Amino acid sequence: MAYDHFVEHLFPNDLIPTLKRRLNNILGHEKADVIENKIESAIRVLKKLDQFEVVHVIKTWANSWASTFRFHEDKRLPCLLGCPSGQDCMKHYQSRLSLHTIVYDALGKGDDWSEFADLGIANPSREGLRA
Ligand SMILES: [Zn+2]
Repeated sequence: MAYDHFVEHLFPNDLIPTLKRRLNNILGHEKADVIENKIESAIRVLKKLDQFEVVHVIKTWANSWASTFRFHEDKRLPCLLGCPSGQDCMKHYQSRLSLHTIVYDALGKGDDWSEFADLGIANPSREGLRA
């Protein structure tokens, strides 16, 4: 019992505050209310996915994919998807003009960007989080 309190004090579970902070950095402050109000329901949906899918979503929300901008490398690459003016950073890959096109073309969703535009936060669904 004392051990549990000791561990909880030393290693507090700050996953949700961390995800909120990092999602704000990726999506911008105009999505702050959506992130604040929807993150917990998105996490409830997330728990229904396979463990490997959960890891991918958490890595995306936490901006923990490897990119030259995230690692502050001396030589920062352009968009790895070939956008002429894009940068190798999560904020760009989240943008409508890059990864959305590839994902939604692959899913046959046409121009419906709504599920992916906020990384599955606003209207969390299993399909949206998988995208
Ligand atoms: Zn791009």
